[in-house]
Amino acid sequence: MKLEGKVALITGSTRGIGNEVARCFLQEGAKVAICGSKEENAIRAMQKIKEDFSISDDKVLAIGVDLKNTESIRDMVEKVINTWGKIDILVNNAGITSNRSLLESSDEEIYEMFEINLFSVLKTTREVVKYMKDTGGSIINTSSMVGIYGGKNQVAYASSKFAVNGVTKSLAKELGMYQIRVNAVAPGVVATDMMKDTVNENMKQMLLNMTPLQKMAEPKDLAGAYLYLASEDASFTTGTIIQVDGGLVM
Ligand code: NAD
Repeated sequence: MKLEGKVALITGSTRGIGNEVARCFLQEGAKVAICGSKEENAIRAMQKIKEDFSISDDKVLAIGVDLKNTESIRDMVEKVINTWGKIDILVNNAGITSNRSLLESSDEEIYEMFEINLFSVLKTTREVVKYMKDTGGSIINTSSMVGIYGGKNQVAYASSKFAVNGVTKSLAKELGMYQIRVNAVAPGVVATDMMKDTVNENMKQMLLNMTPLQKMAEPKDLAGAYLYLASEDASFTTGTIIQVDGGLVM
C-alpha cells in the first residue's frame, strides 16, 4: 500500500473525479477527508464508500464546506487537523464549469468561477500549508486540458484553469523549501455529472474524434495519476502538470 499512515484532504470528493481519487487513496491505506458543498452529500458519499470497502470509522471523515467562504475553508482544515493531527496530501479538486461565451457571462458568473476554481485553491492551500510546512507533503491541483489549450465559449473556466497551472508552478517554487511538492493533473473529457451538464452530443462526438484513444475517460482512468503524485513514487516530482486526456492535447 502506497499511502499507509498518510492523511489526505480532497475537495470535491462527494462525486466524480474526486470521489474516485478518495476511493483509491483509501484502498492504498490513507485516511481521507471527503469534502463537498453539502454536508449531507459528504456523509452519503462516506457511507457508500464504507459499504463498498471494509473501511473502519476512524479512516474517513465527511465535511461540508463552502469553498467561496474563507471561514468555512478554515473550519474544514481545522476539522482534519483536530481529528488526525496532520495533513500529508491536499487535493484541490472541486470546481465548476460553464459553457457561456464572454458576451453571455455576467460579472457574478465570472467571479463565482474564479472564486471556486482559483481563489479557493489559494485559500485552502494557505490554510493547509500552515501545518504541512512542518511535515512536508504533496499538493495536487485538478486543472483541465482547456487550461493548456483554451476553450471556445469557456473563457472564464479555461482562464481559471490556466491560473491553476500558474499556481502549481509558482507554489512548487515557493514551497519546495518545506519538502512540499505541488503538481497538477489536467484531465481531458471525463464522464462525470459536470461533463454531462456542459458537453452536448455534437461536442462529445467531436472531442472523441480528436482523441487518439477514441474514448471518454471514466474517473477511474484518472485516479492513478493522483496516486502517483501523492505517493513516494513522485518524491522528486514537483511543478509538473500531468495530462490525462487520451492524447487529446499534444
Ligand atoms: P463534479 O461536478 O462531478 O464534482 C464537483 C465537486 O466539487 C462536487 O463534489 C462538489 O460538491 C464540489 N464543489 C463544487 N462547488 C463547490 C463549492 N462552492 N464548495 C465546495 N465544494 C464544491 O465534477 P468533476 O467532473 O468530478 O470535476 C472535478 C474537477 O475536475 C473540477 O475541478 C473540474 O474542473 C475538473 N475537470 C473535469 C473534467 C470533466 O470532463 N469532468 C475535465 C477537466 C477537468
